[in-house]
Amino acid sequence: MFKKYYLWLAAALLVAAPAHAKLRVVTTLQDFSSIADAIGGDRVETFAIAKGYQDPHFVDAKPSFILKLSKADLLIVAGLELEIGYLPPLIDQSRNDKIHPSSPGYLDASIGCDILQRPTTQVTRAMGDVHPYGNPHFWTDPNNGKVIARAIAAKLSELDPAGAADYAKNLAAFEAKLAEKEKEWDAKMAPYAGTKVVTFHDSWPNFAKHFQLVVAGHVEPKPGIPPTPSHTLEIINLIKEQKIPVVIVEPYFDMKTPNAIAAQTGAKVLVFYPSVGGIPEIKDYFSLFDHDVNAFADAMKGKK
Ligand SMILES: [Zn+2]
Repeated sequence: MFKKYYLWLAAALLVAAPAHAKLRVVTTLQDFSSIADAIGGDRVETFAIAKGYQDPHFVDAKPSFILKLSKADLLIVAGLELEIGYLPPLIDQSRNDKIHPSSPGYLDASIGCDILQRPTTQVTRAMGDVHPYGNPHFWTDPNNGKVIARAIAAKLSELDPAGAADYAKNLAAFEAKLAEKEKEWDAKMAPYAGTKVVTFHDSWPNFAKHFQLVVAGHVEPKPGIPPTPSHTLEIINLIKEQKIPVVIVEPYFDMKTPNAIAAQTGAKVLVFYPSVGGIPEIKDYFSLFDHDVNAFADAMKGKK
């Protein structure tokens, strides 16, 4: 009788237990969770701390993030101090040794990427510059997206060797789709090669490098420092002198100064989304570039 019961129990457990427990992946940005979903498929469960419509430098730490981190197998960050303002205390409070910066379950996505504006002299965060180790908005170049996808595939295979073949297959599919989409994006942007733009925050050097735009100035006097009247006047003069057609603004900044600049110069204000999730249509890493490339081309039509 007991034997029968245990057999039944064993059978029930076999049915109830999933084929494998999903790897829990927490990322700071939705861009990384989108890529991790593409590579991990149904072997992973992802959660992004910052939403795509939020300034990735300044995220409100919520207790629910600590809970997510406490159960995470892998944490993927941008690094370069993008998350310095909120992440270190969350990691500490999660009490999860797996995701400490020196642990295998911590992946700095900037490693191996083309990082621009690396300082050549020792820097401090004095004066409020929030890019002290180089530009942390590097995922806006699809070539860096490929590097990030490869790093994620390698890390997932390390943490879950049983899934290595799945991760390799998914990575190949991701890279093939990215190569195809890159051709489409490059073709759409080619007519505008060399176009000068002003951007609110210094979020776009990688995007500009890839698509051959020239970032001539920023509405912020320094990354993280709000506009000042004297700097705004300089930008207005710059746009007038160099006939700059577009002012690119991230969705989380106040439109007052960009709109005033546009009114004085005739430049067009263009809202550009730096991350997946900025609006519902930008649902993955591919639609991020679809959106921004189309928005840029649309803004430029009628300008030439
Ligand atoms: Zn920044």
